[in-house]
Amino acid sequence: MDKAEDHTKEPRFDLGEPSEQKSLLIDEGFVDSFELTKFENLPFWLQDNQWIRTGYRVNFSFKLCATSLFHKHNELLCIWTHLLGFVTFFILMFLTWFYFLDNPDAGDVIVFTVFLLGAQCQMLFSTIFHTFNCHSPDALKWLARLDYTGISLMIVGSYFPPLYYGFGCHNVERIVYLVLVSLFGVAGVCVSMFPVFATPRFRVVRTVFFIIFGWFAVFPMPHMAFLFGFALMWPLMWRELIMGITYVLGAVVYSTRVPERWWPGKFDGCGSHVIWHMFSNAAALMQFYVCLYVYYNRQDYAC
Ligand SMILES: [Zn+2]
Repeated sequence: MDKAEDHTKEPRFDLGEPSEQKSLLIDEGFVDSFELTKFENLPFWLQDNQWIRTGYRVNFSFKLCATSLFHKHNELLCIWTHLLGFVTFFILMFLTWFYFLDNPDAGDVIVFTVFLLGAQCQMLFSTIFHTFNCHSPDALKWLARLDYTGISLMIVGSYFPPLYYGFGCHNVERIVYLVLVSLFGVAGVCVSMFPVFATPRFRVVRTVFFIIFGWFAVFPMPHMAFLFGFALMWPLMWRELIMGITYVLGAVVYSTRVPERWWPGKFDGCGSHVIWHMFSNAAALMQFYVCLYVYYNRQDYAC
């Protein structure tokens, strides 16, 4: 069976062997004029979501990809939702250093900076992925890895302030949990590096992995409730719960591909992926609020 037969049997891109894949449209060189393509004319490696029918960029040069920040196509809102999220967290980092933290020591600055840099990495890497992924199969493969790496960094960073202040009086537990979540992050980056993990058939698996990773809090939270009592923990828990639910709702939209699945072609520019970006921005802002909450109430968990 030759490659072409393979492709018609399973019309999905396989990021494992990008160099063997050729565009059905363009056999050589890169496109230098801003022309968009319909799903049925896409090369194999870009056939990811059959319910998004139009507005695809294919084999764009890097220069043309960069200009797609200011042209209409089906990833324009994906790019801008995370680019604006990145700018927001970049500004929040300076506000945190010079305004939100009162007389911070090195520990305060480090844990908040880890969180805020994690959020910025996630949003910047995603912006880069959505801007340049149409360049070539290799670009798609490497940028997808970068995108997942950003999600891992974001999740790890999210745990730093709550664990640091929550176990303020329990140094051993604090170090154990911080090391554990960092190891989880390393595992997340490693999983992201396997090309097979980026294929559509692993969409559910990778979503579940990131949900478990994101819900790692189910371990330290009851531990803190045991140490401080449920009444003291509840204000922190319900805030974290709202953040977690926001994150899961976004992940459900991302993996089920609603609403374009129900109305193919009607949500080409603003489908499930844009909704997922907005949910992830909202969850990141909620987590920033939780971090500030635990910082301002750190005396409750102190010795
Ligand atoms: Zn995205």
